[in-house]
Amino acid sequence: MNQTPQKPKRQILFYYVIVIIIMILINLFLIPSLGRQQTEEIPYSDFLSLLDAKRVLQAKVDSTSITFAAELGNNIRVYETGRMEDPELVDRMLAAGVEFTQDVPTQVSPLLQLLLYWVAPMALFILVGQLLMRYVTKNMNGGNGFMSLGKSNAKVYMESQTGKSFADVAGEDEAKAALQEIVDFLHNPMKYKDIGARMPKGALLVGPPGTGKTLLAKAVAGEAKVPFFSISGSEFVEMFVGMGAARVRDLFKQAQEKAPCIVFIDEIDAVGKKRDAGMIGGNDEREQTLNQLLAEMDGFDSSKGVVILAATNRPDSLDQALLRPGRFDRRIPVELPDLAGREAILKVHAKGVRTSSEINYHDVALATSGTSGAELANIINEGALLAVREGRKQVEQKDLEEAIETVIAGYQRKGAVILPDEKKVISYHEIGHALVAARQSSSAPVHKITIIPRTSGALGYTMQVEEDEHYLMTRDEIVNKITTLTAGRAAEELVFHEITSGASNDIEQATKLARMMITRLGMSSQFDMTALESVQNAYLGGDTSLICSEDTASAIDLEVMKIIQKCHDKAMEILTNNVTVLHQLAQYLLEKETITGDEFMDILNKCDAEKEQSAPNVVSASAE
Ligand code: ADP
Ligand code: MG
Ligand code: ZN
Repeated sequence: MNQTPQKPKRQILFYYVIVIIIMILINLFLIPSLGRQQTEEIPYSDFLSLLDAKRVLQAKVDSTSITFAAELGNNIRVYETGRMEDPELVDRMLAAGVEFTQDVPTQVSPLLQLLLYWVAPMALFILVGQLLMRYVTKNMNGGNGFMSLGKSNAKVYMESQTGKSFADVAGEDEAKAALQEIVDFLHNPMKYKDIGARMPKGALLVGPPGTGKTLLAKAVAGEAKVPFFSISGSEFVEMFVGMGAARVRDLFKQAQEKAPCIVFIDEIDAVGKKRDAGMIGGNDEREQTLNQLLAEMDGFDSSKGVVILAATNRPDSLDQALLRPGRFDRRIPVELPDLAGREAILKVHAKGVRTSSEINYHDVALATSGTSGAELANIINEGALLAVREGRKQVEQKDLEEAIETVIAGYQRKGAVILPDEKKVISYHEIGHALVAARQSSSAPVHKITIIPRTSGALGYTMQVEEDEHYLMTRDEIVNKITTLTAGRAAEELVFHEITSGASNDIEQATKLARMMITRLGMSSQFDMTALESVQNAYLGGDTSLICSEDTASAIDLEVMKIIQKCHDKAMEILTNNVTVLHQLAQYLLEKETITGDEFMDILNKCDAEKEQSAPNVVSASAE
């Protein structure tokens, strides 16, 4: 909602016109009448007769009038009469015994009068007006360039010491190296000045949520031991036009007073979005704020030691003007942690937790591929909570493993009652996945299989954990993955001749993978290396949109179907060839509810050995 208040200039003009009118009225009527008492005007002749009757007690003779007190009956009243040219007046009054005076013309000098009657009230009104305006602008539009009075009430958070250092940030070595230079500059700006090097005014931290961007910015301030100003981009965007711009101005003013320091604008995409003409009317407020930000960044002198950091997970949506040299010219990627990074992050967060010395963080890191630093921190905390819940004094490996599942799939729904028939179906479904995974080469080993339902809605799942961190995926690996995904449904079909809704998530994932192969990975013979989809917001889920003709789109659909069909058939074939061990494993899982990868492989290997004795060649035939 945007509310544009009346233009302040017109408002204040209006106010002054009213003030002047009021003052004229006061000067015309009120002030002159103040001096006058309740007097009654009477003719001069009446005055004379009263005088002769010795009724007049006191008189004050002015140049034009005579004010006098006279006794009438029992009360004394004050009268006024115009003064006439009367040489005998003094004699008459003396004769009547009147106490009389002539007013010494205490005529205030015209200058003083002007000052008293006009200038002083005017000044008073202007003062009140100013105060009023200040109040109004502060509460309605933050100054708006007109009389920038005082500070906007921007929610700027200033920390003199963040208490964070690079040691708190695990992994992210490249980002830390890039930021180290900024720290060095804040420590020793002269070194850079002497040689004539210009420090970048700002650095932009980009990466998916939870990878430690905010943490890194704080660590830079902590390392450099300088104050840290932080404000979130969304806090700039206010209800009233001009407020955001005032906040930006204020932020930079405060920062320059406290230099050297760090200004951190979190989630800068809230203000820094591209200013496109597409939107009708646009967003005035945001644009104004952005313009102010750009102007401030140009305006300040970075040699004083103000460094601006900003963070975003939508770098592609930022206005180009923000990224040009002299503004956020440094872009520091903060990516999801790799295997070593995850292990290091786990260890950093485990420091504050009492843990068993036997915990193998490498294993935990292996099982958490694709998670962010924030999720890893959460896993450690969930593990600690679990240990407390079970009344243990320290966190053990199994707590962390359960915590991984909690973070990935939600809490166990221990109370959920699943009918025995359904449980059986789920059991076969999961073993179907695991068995097909195990029977294919280049497929991640099965780590755990469970049919305990989770709060995420999963009724069971098969966890596969890679032995190493992979950066590439071969075509075979992807196809095998799709095959594994279709195997749950295949097992249901094979054993129960009936299909259930339990495969919905598998279907979704398999389709996504098959689509990606064709549209983005160039893994289909039909389209070769053509890009058919583009990714938006790579850091936020990676939504895609088609960039091809409608004909191609339907051809893609056909190709996707073909791939999945083929994989489904292959899964069916593998299961058909291994139906004995499928029954055995499913029965075992049904009893135990959760089995480890080792238990699974034991049964599988034992079965294979028996099979080999009776029919030597079946296994190798079904393995492909
Ligand atoms: P972002 O700003 O990138 O969304 P944050 O900096 O807010 O992420 O990170 C959230 C939390 O996750 C941090 O407070 C910290 O506990 C944890 N975290 C994230 N990345 C790391 C890391 N590399 N090392 C240690 N802790 C991390
Ligand atoms: Mg953040
Ligand atoms: Zn499944």
